[in-house]
Formats: sequence, structure tokens, C-alpha cells
Amino acid sequence: MKACRQCKAIVKNATKCPICGSEDLTEKWYGLVIVLNPEKSQLAKLLNIKVAGEYALNVD
Ligand SMILES: [Zn+2]
Repeated sequence: MKACRQCKAIVKNATKCPICGSEDLTEKWYGLVIVLNPEKSQLAKLLNIKVAGEYALNVD
């Protein structure tokens, strides 16, 4: 699995990010965050996540 450097979304079996469309992906990411309901999640607000999905906490 890779993570998008732009929005930190986890990308599986794809060469570009399904959330923001960026091709700037990295295999060096840490901490998996699963956001089910970004509008109600404090963590999603903190990480500026607006679309439900799986995200990395940190990317290199
Ligand atoms: Zn992205």
C-alpha cells in the first residue's frame, strides 16, 4: 500500500490517488487512520480530511 503525499489517503493497487488525483505517492508512511464520518470526527478535522476513507497519519 502507498499513501498520497498531498492528502495522505491510502492508495491500493493504483498509480494515482482516488481522493485528490495526485500521482505523488510514497511507500514511506506511518499510522493508519480510518475515517468513517469526516463531519463528526475530531481527528478528521485535525487532519483536514473531508472524504471518508483510510489515511496515513504521517507521510515522508
Ligand atoms: Zn491524494
